[in-house]
Amino acid sequence: MGPFNSQGGIPLPLSLSGSTPPNPNLSRVRALPLRPIWTGLGINTAFYGVMWFGLVSSIRMARRWRRRRRGLCTRCAYDRTGLTPAQPCPECGLMPPMPKASPTTA
Ligand SMILES: [Zn+2]
Repeated sequence: MGPFNSQGGIPLPLSLSGSTPPNPNLSRVRALPLRPIWTGLGINTAFYGVMWFGLVSSIRMARRWRRRRRGLCTRCAYDRTGLTPAQPCPECGLMPPMPKASPTTA
């Protein structure tokens, strides 16, 4: 192995890097890395962004589904008992989605 390239990092004094590290491969490290590895940063950002988006979206979808099943407004959880499906929510004004036409009605 060649000498460690500390380009873009903070060089460490030999007293710090000369101590026995737990990992023998780290004995060659003479600097703290400061520059991002752009490819890895981009992949990690995309991966964790998609993971968080999926998690937050699924929680919102589950909450809307549960409110719809209990007869509540899907946005504000107002109790829609006594309201027709064509009436908007009196609390937030949200129009409920039109019920899907069943294949038996023709
Ligand atoms: Zn509402």
